[in-house]
Amino acid sequence: MTPYLEIGGDYREVVPGIHMLELPLPFSLGIVNVYLVRLDDGWLLIDTGMQTEACFQALTRALEGLAVDWRDIRHVLLTHIHPDHMGLASRVIALTGAPLHLHWADHQLLAEITNRERHHAWQQEVLTIAGVPGEMRKLVHSSLLEIQQSFQRLTPDRLLSGGESFSTPHGALEVIWTPGHSPGHVCLYGQGRRVLISGDHILEHISPNIGWQPGRDVLGEFLSSLDRIAGLEVDLILPSHGAPFSGHRAWVRKTHEHHAERCARIVSLVDGGARTAHEIASQLWDRKLSPFHYRFAIFEVLAHLEYLERREVLRADRSNGVYHWTRAAA
Ligand SMILES: [Zn+2]
Ligand SMILES: [Zn+2]
Repeated sequence: MTPYLEIGGDYREVVPGIHMLELPLPFSLGIVNVYLVRLDDGWLLIDTGMQTEACFQALTRALEGLAVDWRDIRHVLLTHIHPDHMGLASRVIALTGAPLHLHWADHQLLAEITNRERHHAWQQEVLTIAGVPGEMRKLVHSSLLEIQQSFQRLTPDRLLSGGESFSTPHGALEVIWTPGHSPGHVCLYGQGRRVLISGDHILEHISPNIGWQPGRDVLGEFLSSLDRIAGLEVDLILPSHGAPFSGHRAWVRKTHEHHAERCARIVSLVDGGARTAHEIASQLWDRKLSPFHYRFAIFEVLAHLEYLERREVLRADRSNGVYHWTRAAA
């Protein structure tokens, strides 16, 4: 029995009609929270947990404890397609018969990721233009094989685009598109209860990972979706990892600062002679990163470089296969 089986499995009603179910994860985040929301008719399950037996058992026990039958779940919604959120989706859909709701942009991304050969080739191409040495590219590839298996094709019944809503006895719960952490990430906002189910968009002690996507200003999108959230009246944030907390505007401000600092640091590394995303990442993180985490670091740096290029701070020379970054203005 691995240690993680002993944590999680807890559930409680965090605001009237919204239950937080803690499900165990086999990695350092420890727990993913999924939410069971009472609807006018039946229940809405937000996220499903990872595709592990421990997760499934914890979910089953929580539903039993709440006397909610699988068939009472009328809708299943995924905040985004990361394995700790969507892993059990197929199994839950089979048991509940409920329609699956997913944002179209994450559905599109999932289709790309599950085309494994093509996705692998694309990842290697990105690492190459980032200046990552061949040996490291191989290590990154092996480190991703396991996680790749946890992405599975899904056929959503409803493709979300933001603005949809669910009727609950405590007022409507509205879908808000918050791209950044993933292109089709959504949060759910209950205006009446002043609660935000924030997925991985807002996590109290963690700055959500932002990964570069071709043709997108991922960091710019993330910061804009944070501003959107800052405009809402929220007393309680219900995140996917960690306990409920409040103070969303302070959190948004702090996160803006974090990325502004990171941008400034990247520009100063470029001024100091770092030319490729690999060179920048190696100096940005002074500790040695595992190949798995290094991959996230590279994609995070690329998202910042793209952001800085679009704002004409930096520019890339793309002429020789590896992108070389310099100041945009002499
Ligand atoms: Zn995530
Ligand atoms: Zn997560």
